[in-house]
Amino acid sequence: MNEYEKLIDNSRKKQSKLNIEQYKYIRDLYKDVSKSLEVKANKAKKGSLTERWSKDYKKAVRAQIKQMNIVLKSTISENMKKSAENASEIQLDFFDEINMRYGLGLSESFKNMFSSVPNDVLKELVSGDFYKDGRGLSKRIWFNENKVNGDIDYIIQKGIAEKKSAYELGQDLQEYVNPDSKKDWQWKKVYPGTAKTIDYNAQRLARTSISHAYTLSMIKSCEKNPFIEKIRWHSMFASGRTCPLCKERDGKEYLLKDCPLDHPNGLCYQEPLLDDSLEHIGSRLNSWVKGNSDKDLDDWYRKYGDYFSGN
Ligand SMILES: [Zn+2]
Repeated sequence: MNEYEKLIDNSRKKQSKLNIEQYKYIRDLYKDVSKSLEVKANKAKKGSLTERWSKDYKKAVRAQIKQMNIVLKSTISENMKKSAENASEIQLDFFDEINMRYGLGLSESFKNMFSSVPNDVLKELVSGDFYKDGRGLSKRIWFNENKVNGDIDYIIQKGIAEKKSAYELGQDLQEYVNPDSKKDWQWKKVYPGTAKTIDYNAQRLARTSISHAYTLSMIKSCEKNPFIEKIRWHSMFASGRTCPLCKERDGKEYLLKDCPLDHPNGLCYQEPLLDDSLEHIGSRLNSWVKGNSDKDLDDWYRKYGDYFSGN
């Protein structure tokens, strides 16, 4: 593995760690809500459900879900930023390494060049401007919240119709919100159409969001590297999970402008391809910095000269 490959490998490792941490964190968010519903259920009277009690209870559950989604949104945004940083850091670290080895004196320029990428990516994706349907993060979370609220209303209504006790209803809702609860055939018979895995939509949204942030940041940062033209697609080939589209994309090389973002819940990743060896790039840059002309680098400077003003 050469230096550049190490940077890519390191970024991939950070990315998978982020995915795992995010997954656990979101599960815990739901578990916390479930816990607090359990506490409420345990405090409820054993008597049958009153209209008043169920109304108050519904309000309380909704408020809690809403609060959780506020936390969810900021968590996903933060992780998208980290993810975008993971991708753009490959390029920044690459230039830093060359800068150091070949004494270019361009450390500040490179920092300037890549520091804005993660925020640009975040803005584009969170606002929804990037997506054909224009839906940003807030709207997507809101859609999920509506589905959950609908399920909760349904469970409460059924509880009233079946004359369940407040305690029983509380138990059911707590089970519904708990991502660990195994919702068996019995559950599905009682509450058909409700989400089987409560955190599924949130997890999918979170995973997709950070995958998109990573790829978009990779594209944007590679655009600023004159030694990169293409990105290679890698599929994971997880058994039963890799779709035909991903299998077809595996190993394909895309021009930066043509590189797609993965579909929801995708497991693929991308590798930015360096056209030249580190040594050759280093000596070219070194000679260019000293004033010798180099067509590609002159073009690069024409385009990104503003970033060099700091030096
Ligand atoms: Zn796929």
